[in-house]
Amino acid sequence: MLSSYDILIVGAGVAGPALAHALATKTCDNRRAPLRIALLERSLSKPDRIVAELLQPGGVTALKQLGLESCLEDLGSVSLLGYHVLRGEQGICASFPEGHDARAFEHGAFVMALRDRARQAPNVDVIEITVLGLIENEDTHRVIGVRASKAGGQPESYFADLVIVADGSTSKFRTAVLGSMLYEPSHRGYLAGLILKDLKLAVPQYATMIVLKRAGPVVLFELPNNEHRMLVELKESPPDLKDPEISVTAGT
Ligand SMILES: Cc1cc2nc3c(=O)[nH]c(=O)nc-3n(C[C@H](O)[C@H](O)[C@H](O)COP(=O)(O)OP(=O)(O)OC[C@H]3O[C@@H](n4cnc5c(N)ncnc54)[C@H](O)[C@@H]3O)c2cc1C
Repeated sequence: MLSSYDILIVGAGVAGPALAHALATKTCDNRRAPLRIALLERSLSKPDRIVAELLQPGGVTALKQLGLESCLEDLGSVSLLGYHVLRGEQGICASFPEGHDARAFEHGAFVMALRDRARQAPNVDVIEITVLGLIENEDTHRVIGVRASKAGGQPESYFADLVIVADGSTSKFRTAVLGSMLYEPSHRGYLAGLILKDLKLAVPQYATMIVLKRAGPVVLFELPNNEHRMLVELKESPPDLKDPEISVTAGT
């Protein structure tokens, strides 16, 4: 592995591998030598999260433009044509524009497919390593690299002309790059997620959104393998839903 690259990307969630693939493939015609890119990710195991399971039509279009559409096909993703919005007894269907659909899939499988595509480019190194800090040029304060360490290893330095930080919504480096922000990210709510088996929705191929008076909304959509995801928005931090006693109460 090199320790000096053209581009370092911190984080191989959704954005990082898509960007690595795009930079590795789309720029190669205009350059004498391909860009050398390192994608640095603290855990290359399959993520077990309930985020990013429903890609809206704009995201599907973006994936097509990046040549990453096959990631969706490989997952057996479910095509969704719009939302069925329910309030009390009343329901309306809001369809996506003609020729556009959203896709639902298991988040972990999607991220693994994106990482595989990034890894396929010969000029991308995917490295399992935790980034500890950014390295700045002492005079210009430009970010020129990162300090990072592999599991149980000593800190190492990686340098690049461009460092891209894509370490997610709980980013450790956001303020280091942007300085103190006018708007500080804060928790406004929580989502509890359930998997339901063998469910039949009133309007198939549409995500169902249930608008409730003092809670919610609740969203239901189909995933591959005859499963449905149910997301319930909660105003307060949920109790441990895996606790059997709470599950019984919630189910009654
Ligand atoms: C509850 C919830 C539900 C959501 N549902 C949807 C949805 O249905 N559809 C949708 O399109 N979007 C959804 N989103 C938004 C979506 O999850 C984010 O937009 C997307 O994950 C952002 O991608 P990202 O690559 O920036 O961050 P992430 O996907 O979070 O990836 C960040 C990566 O950086 C790595 N990392 C972090 N710190 C370090 C470090 N120090 N060193 C090395 N690696 C590091 C992490 O391990 C991770 O792999 C949801 C978000 C939440 C919170």
